[in-house]
Amino acid sequence: MSQQAGPADHVFHELTRSICPVCRRVIDAQVLLRGGKVYMRKRCPEHGPFEALIYADAEAYTSLAKYNRPGARPLARATAVDRGCPHDCGLCPDHEQHTCVGIIEVNTACNMHCPLCFADAGAGFQLSLPDVEGILDRFVAAEGSPEVVQFSGGEPSIHPEIVPMLRAARDHGIRHVMLNTNGKRIATDDAFVAALSELRVSVYFQFDGFEPETYRILRGEPDILTTKLRALDRLAEARCSVILVPAIERGVNESEIGRIVDFALAHPAVRGINFQAAFHAGRHPDHDPLHRMTIPEMVGKIQEQTAGRFRRSDFVPVPCCFPICNSVTYAYVEGEEVLPIPRLIRMDDYLDYIANRVVPDVGPGWDLKDALERLWSSAAVPGTPEAVRDFALSCAACGIDVDLAGLRGLADRMFMIMLQDFMDPWTFSQKNVMKCCKAVLLPDGRQIPFCAYNNLGYREQVRSWLANRRSGPAEREPLTFVFPA
Ligand code: SF4
Ligand code: SF4
Ligand code: SF4
Repeated sequence: MSQQAGPADHVFHELTRSICPVCRRVIDAQVLLRGGKVYMRKRCPEHGPFEALIYADAEAYTSLAKYNRPGARPLARATAVDRGCPHDCGLCPDHEQHTCVGIIEVNTACNMHCPLCFADAGAGFQLSLPDVEGILDRFVAAEGSPEVVQFSGGEPSIHPEIVPMLRAARDHGIRHVMLNTNGKRIATDDAFVAALSELRVSVYFQFDGFEPETYRILRGEPDILTTKLRALDRLAEARCSVILVPAIERGVNESEIGRIVDFALAHPAVRGINFQAAFHAGRHPDHDPLHRMTIPEMVGKIQEQTAGRFRRSDFVPVPCCFPICNSVTYAYVEGEEVLPIPRLIRMDDYLDYIANRVVPDVGPGWDLKDALERLWSSAAVPGTPEAVRDFALSCAACGIDVDLAGLRGLADRMFMIMLQDFMDPWTFSQKNVMKCCKAVLLPDGRQIPFCAYNNLGYREQVRSWLANRRSGPAEREPLTFVFPA
């Protein structure tokens, strides 16, 4: 009697391209559904097989396609298609989305030495103010009216020219200027805080929890919480808007998620939280790729640890990039009461791009679909007048009594929770990065999608180039856009 092999332990869902975590060569990768979760399996001809968890909810993963919004083209591309994706960044003509969030890494130095640092901060380069002005010129040429520029590093606040750089971004008409920081300078430097307030800079603030052990493991500084709390209070006094950015690492601070939410809701400077699954690149590659933190698990912990103040169903994928990259919710907050907008609006009526329903406007001049698309975007920055206006419209559409003419005070009632899962060399998928909307902006005009920058060797190449260049005019030649769109 012939024998039949048993059934596979998984469903083969799709094929993508990834990289070998050891040698970084591009290889095929299978996406498999197994035990209710989603895994990536791949094999390097030299280094053998690899498997990693990419999404802890197979049912949600397979229904995300409806949130995949058509991309918007940039005005110009900086590179040609030559070796093929992901070696031609960018943006090359094959890229499917313009850049909502442009990141300028102004330095590689830092006043901390976090074991978790994906940027591997330390010796390297420091951009000049003319470098940054050139980057901004080119970003405006490629985008027309850019939405967000985020200054990053290293630690950008220790760059001696960071304030003129932030001002240059404002002068270039960038709608939202953000500073990505560990908060140390903010805790002590009055003039710096005053400049952030004057320039209306939104502060993207590293904040991983409350336990000394969390900060010892992730940041190498068990006592830094006091400094961070002082910085946040100073930002509140200066009326600056803050987004807390906790990196959540398995076995370290996943139990602190609910406490971070409660703290953020109560703090007068904090307009939202961007939870990021700890990202295993740079200095922090060691982990178990089969048990990494992903968005569905962070959402589950928010539900458990906030006693249902926020629920799993309150979170909706962000459609401008690939929908597995981010999920977000917005809530109207009054005292202890928290009312997430997706409990009041049928989000699929507006953000399902497969059904593509035509929904009547909720009132004269109220385009709720446009407002929700702007909020459910990587470019939305809570606390800014634009985001408050869109939030007000959403609230009014679902019957919350807000003063659409005034809007004063509503910024304090608007609260965002975003969840983000950057790809690492184990989970990298070319499919996702081709629609990435966050890019590192370089002095030569290239925009490198963030997950390509961190995984494919671009970061290392750029660091070496900028550290060793003899600086000067050659770096500031106007960029030749090879493929105007
Ligand atoms: S990630 Fe985008 S820009 Fe980079 S090579 Fe691929 S398609 Fe081109
Ligand atoms: S993670 Fe941020 S604060 Fe920590 S060393 Fe890296 S750049 Fe500095
Ligand atoms: S940075 Fe990475 S995770 Fe974020 S949108 Fe781009 S590809 Fe997706």
